[in-house]
Amino acid sequence: MYDTIIIGAGPAGLAAALYAGRSRLSTLIIEKGAVGGQIALTSDIENYPGALHEDTGSSLCERMAEQAKGFGAQFVTDTVVDLELEGSEKKVVCQDQTYSAKTVIIATGGSPKKIGCSGEAELTGKGVSYCATCDGFFFADLEVFAIGGGDAAVEEAMYLTKFARKVTIVHRRDQLRAAASIVERAKANEKIHFLWDSVVEEIKGNDIVESIVFKNVKTGELTTHTADEEDGTFGVFVFIGFDPVSALLRGKITMDAVGYVITDDNMHTNIEGVFVVGDVRQKSLRQVVTATSDGAIAAMQAEKYLHEH
Ligand code: NAP
Repeated sequence: MYDTIIIGAGPAGLAAALYAGRSRLSTLIIEKGAVGGQIALTSDIENYPGALHEDTGSSLCERMAEQAKGFGAQFVTDTVVDLELEGSEKKVVCQDQTYSAKTVIIATGGSPKKIGCSGEAELTGKGVSYCATCDGFFFADLEVFAIGGGDAAVEEAMYLTKFARKVTIVHRRDQLRAAASIVERAKANEKIHFLWDSVVEEIKGNDIVESIVFKNVKTGELTTHTADEEDGTFGVFVFIGFDPVSALLRGKITMDAVGYVITDDNMHTNIEGVFVVGDVRQKSLRQVVTATSDGAIAAMQAEKYLHEH
């Protein structure tokens, strides 16, 4: 039985692993995919103190993982399918194996929100993408639409200008939500254009994106953009926020209507010995710096709990 099991290897989980490892807790971190979580989809890290200029989300997280391993945290790739969180022995049931621990730190983060329009699911990976770092390269000299008006949409739109010849940010209002410094840089970038007050109504194509229908939310007018004949296609990158990954916790841990888990300032949930950290938590600022802070606090609280029980 581990002292602590951490579920999710994004910045929150990795920071928890580092602090738990340093506190000599036997620590297992379970991740179903690559380390990094949401931030692994980000190309530029502008606002994590001390991040290197050349860092990407994944390079930063790989260093975090190495640091945690250096303090003894064990990593395993598996998918959690059930949790038994009550009592002194907590069980984390995964596809391959069941693990037990005295404490559990949940850092499951979020997953990209979908537009929900017709054609989106069918054309995902065929022109529709949720990751500029992963797929931007495929759109060299093509046109690209970046959907959304938050930090992610604007930053990733800028990253996409490295490849695409034109990037249009499509936002449902006429003012961006993104931070002023990011907006300034985007507005100064010649390759970036804006389509305001617009949402995606439909994405069409025969095995590859060929056209997209926008709806002006003020006038209701529909306009269709069709790929240049020479290009044959274009990219649709969706950055409209994310949904918390908390389905496994429903009915077990107190959460709000959207699915964000409610904790106190020390990451305690309503269940003793179970802590929740990072983007899956109800909080005001979802950034790497706040995720790592959550992780550190939870690990120290887990240590305190173990000491007292
Ligand atoms: P976000 O801040 O929630 O922004 C989502 C954007 O998508 C908003 O502009 C929103 O419009 C729009 N939107 C939401 N649902 C939509 C829909 N169904 N159709 C069309 N548009 C829709 O999400 P995010 O940009 O992914 O960022 C998530 C968190 O990560 C934020 O806390 C953000 O600060 C952080 N982040 C930070 C950085 C950075 O600081 N470097 C980079 C990336 C992300 P409205 O504006 O009208 O609501």
